[in-house]
Order: sequence, then structure tokens, then C-alpha cells
Amino acid sequence: MNYRHAFHAGNHADVLKHVVLLAMIEALARKDAPYFVLDTHAGRGRYLLQGEQAGKTGEAQGGIFKLFVLHGLPALLQRYLKRVQADNPVGALIAYPGSPLITAQAMRAGDRLVACELQVEEAQALASLFAHDRRVDVRHADGYATVKATLPPKERRGLVLIDPPYEAQDEEFGTILSALKEGLTRWPTGIYAVWYPIKMRRTLNAFFRKAALLPCKSALLVELQVHADDTPLRLNGSGLLILNPPWQLDVELAPVLPVLARLLGERHPSWRIEWLKPDFG
Ligand code: SAM
Repeated sequence: MNYRHAFHAGNHADVLKHVVLLAMIEALARKDAPYFVLDTHAGRGRYLLQGEQAGKTGEAQGGIFKLFVLHGLPALLQRYLKRVQADNPVGALIAYPGSPLITAQAMRAGDRLVACELQVEEAQALASLFAHDRRVDVRHADGYATVKATLPPKERRGLVLIDPPYEAQDEEFGTILSALKEGLTRWPTGIYAVWYPIKMRRTLNAFFRKAALLPCKSALLVELQVHADDTPLRLNGSGLLILNPPWQLDVELAPVLPVLARLLGERHPSWRIEWLKPDFG
């Protein structure tokens, strides 16, 4: 099977990331010209949520499982859930689509995805998932190096998603900032979305200060916290830093974030959509 048990898959952070990703891909599809997506840390594409281990303890219980059966949600959330449901044709929530699958499902015939994964087993699973999809180029490689190797894309419009595991802790931010500088130099008009964990907020301030100085047109922060950010011991929330976001992404997400905070929140949930660098047109 092309997925494995995954403890974290489908948690509140994945839901936020994939809803925002879908909104950005849909925005790119509003123009006829083809677009390009680079997913630097793609994972295996599909995760198994139910099973001996994941079913009992998986973090999806606090994420996608809470939303899966609901109706009457904001339109973007409904469209996201439809994509998850398409991956679960029997009705029960078993498989959870990761970022490259969400992207590929939304792509048109002429659009293109480069999906990069460093871990060999994950890269193999990803390659077999897309073995028959010629729009998707799976690379077993370092995602940061692929920024240099693939940008600028011939399509001249599109998105780079940077979603690292933060194994290097705060050092990851330095690597991300270098990749963003490199990317913006090669492709100034691309959209760049970086996922980050929120444990204790103050540890993010230096990253935001440096990100605000990047040579992009604008920068938006979109965050969802399910707990107060008062302990480094758990994932209290997460966010996306989006450079050159699509037009009106903030407006489209405005009705969605409070609903996610209400439905997925635990103790003192909160959300924010804020310009780190405003778009002055
Ligand atoms: N983006 C995926 C999604 O939303 O479904 C999840 C990605 S997961 C958070 C991070 C992935 O990055 C892991 O699968 C890990 O093996 C991979 N990884 C770690 N370091 C990497 C690197 N330098 N380049 C590419 N992939 C890397």
C-alpha cells in the first residue's frame, strides 16, 4: 500500500497548511496560463490514519477527524474536505492526502509539480504514487538544493512550498531564509510559502524580523493556535509565512481561520492573518 501509519498526519497543523495550499493553488488556476509548483519537503503523498497505532493515538483526532463529517463550513473548507473525501471513496476516513497529492489533484493538464523528498522510503512511496502522472516530477533530493536547480520555472508563475520537519530546531530558520533569498533572486515574482511550528512565540521573532527584510513585494502571516503558546513541549499551533501571496488570499482566509480555531481549538485557541510586509500595490 502506498501509505503508512503516521502519528502526526492530519493534525491541526496539516489541516491549516493544506487549506492554505489549496487556496493558493486555486488562485493560480484563475488564469489560463500554466503554473509551476515546487514542494521542497513533499513527504510520501498519502498517509494511513486508521490502524493499530495511528487509530488510537494519532494527532488526526484533533485535526481532520473533527472536520470530516461536518457540513455548512466556509466554501474553501468544504472544497478541501471534498479533496480528502475523494481520497476516501468508501466513506470512512482512512487515507490522508499530503501536500503533493492536494496539489496534483487540483492541477490542470498543463500545470507542473516538482516534489522533492530526501528520505529514501518516503521518496519511493511518492514516486510510486505519481508513477502514472506525467505532470509530477518526483525527486529524491535535498529540497533546498532544488530551489536552485528548478528556479526560475519556464511557466514564470507559481508557488514554492517549504515544509521542513525542523529537526535542526531553530537552525532551520537560517537555512529557510537563505533558500528564500536564493529563490527570490532567481524568481522574484514567485509565491513562497513556509510552514513553521508555534511552540513559544518569542522564538519566532528573529525569523519574522529577517523575513520582513526579504526582497519580496509583500509578506503575509497566517496562524492557527489550538493552545496558548506557553510551553515549548508541544505543538501549540503553526503558521505559514507567505511571500508574494496571491491577490486577496487574506480576504479568502478571513472567514476560515475563526472556524478552524473554534472547531480544532482546545485551551485558549487563537488565529491571526497579518501583513508582515504590506502590499502597497
Ligand atoms: N509537505 C508534506 C505534507 O504536507 O504532506 C509533509 C512533509 S514533512 C513535514 C517533512 C518531510 O521532509 C519529511 O518527509 C522528511 O523526510 C523530509 N525531509 C527532511 N529533510 C529534507 C530535505 N533537506 N529535503 C527534502 N526533504 C526533506
